[in-house]
Amino acid sequence: MRSLSVKDDALNEVGSRTWDALFVGAGPAGALAALNLARLGHPVLLVDAKEFPRNKVCGGCLNARAQALLAHCGLTDILSQCEATPVDDLQMMHGRRRAKWPLTGTLAVNRAEFDDALVRKAMEFGVHFLSHTSAQVLKDDRGPLRHIQLKRGVHSVVAQAKVVLCADGLSRSSLRSLDGFTSQVDQSSRVGIGAVVEDDGPAHPSGQLTMAVGRHGYVGITRISRQRLNVAASVDAKALASSTPGELVQEILDACGCSAPKSLLQQTWHGTPTLTRSNARLAAHRLFVLGDAAGYVEPFTGEGMSLAMHTSVLSVPFVQAAIAAWEDRLIREWERSLKRKVLFESWSCRQLSRLVRMPRLAALSLEVCRLAPSLPESLSRHINDRPITGLPPMGPASFSADSAPHYRKTG
Ligand SMILES: Cc1cc2nc3c(=O)[nH]c(=O)nc-3n(C[C@H](O)[C@H](O)[C@H](O)COP(=O)(O)OP(=O)(O)OC[C@H]3O[C@@H](n4cnc5c(N)ncnc54)[C@H](O)[C@@H]3O)c2cc1C
Repeated sequence: MRSLSVKDDALNEVGSRTWDALFVGAGPAGALAALNLARLGHPVLLVDAKEFPRNKVCGGCLNARAQALLAHCGLTDILSQCEATPVDDLQMMHGRRRAKWPLTGTLAVNRAEFDDALVRKAMEFGVHFLSHTSAQVLKDDRGPLRHIQLKRGVHSVVAQAKVVLCADGLSRSSLRSLDGFTSQVDQSSRVGIGAVVEDDGPAHPSGQLTMAVGRHGYVGITRISRQRLNVAASVDAKALASSTPGELVQEILDACGCSAPKSLLQQTWHGTPTLTRSNARLAAHRLFVLGDAAGYVEPFTGEGMSLAMHTSVLSVPFVQAAIAAWEDRLIREWERSLKRKVLFESWSCRQLSRLVRMPRLAALSLEVCRLAPSLPESLSRHINDRPITGLPPMGPASFSADSAPHYRKTG
């Protein structure tokens, strides 16, 4: 894959301009919102701390809701560009119990390739992208622009934008110097680990998502190509202190009698910060928070990317209104909109994630699912495939701030 790196003097160039919108983080939330803003004609800067394409801890399951959001934005061609493959079955394992049922409308993607395709598409629409550039939102004046420090190796510059969108994932690292933006981390929170593993054996066929639930966490395995498996796990941080990621994943798989990919112990693993956290503030003067940075759903059901993209699409009219003329009501309206339309909807996922942490209840539920497969099927449809309502129209010239009366453009 060709790298999306840029020369260092690009940093000085971005510092000399005033951007309508600056997006921190080029995951699905940041890249999709940046793309939609750019195609409405706004000068948009997107930065990411990592060199692209970058690996990302993720099961790589793109549910039907996430696909519907891409279709809403006219971007379904991205799925063929990153060679997304259908996932037809979910196999759940807990101890020696196992159950299998069909999954509706789910695709497996390699996150490095999916995110890279989205960023490239955003660049085609005019987004100015800097990889390997970390951002820090500066404590602010309440003026007409927001200032952000951008760092690339030893170089640094202060950029300015009418609106800043923080889509920097769980860490919310760009918000560290702002008051009130520290996440409350749940003491018992798990952490994510993941790797793309070379394996062409028959144990994990294409089209099957295997979830193995153990004492110290759960592991998801999907085939993303003939030679490679995506392995992602949510595990107890304490257990990780006494084993390597590969050993811990192997232990969970062994306890379920699930075949471990061949090169598990030799892999380079990536990790995430603690997963369960709550965030009181989701906006401030000329600043909105999106995606995982706004609220995190445990990955068990693959809701993460659809949630991130949902917040991304909802943000566009807010950003347009803020670019036209900032009003403090946008802070309240954004927070209310996120809580009501997105975070509330993830209630069922949170309950499922809690359930898999209670071994007896999880075992009992698995037995019920085995005996009555229509139950998990309809739950999966409810979580992954229910329609998304109330989306602002997207696509070239299809939306303007004036077309949504409650996001009225003033001034
Ligand atoms: C174990 C596990 C399995 C999962 N499985 C699935 C699944 O199967 N399906 C699914 O839909 N979801 C899954 N998820 C969740 C999914 O990965 C996230 O919900 C999704 O990536 C959120 O997208 P985002 O754009 O908000 O953030 P991210 O994708 O995390 O992107 C944030 C970006 O911000 C960048 N960044 C961070 N700080 C800075 C900074 N200061 N300056 C510049 N850049 C910065 C990072 O480099 C990163 O590229 C899983 C998560 C875990 C942990």
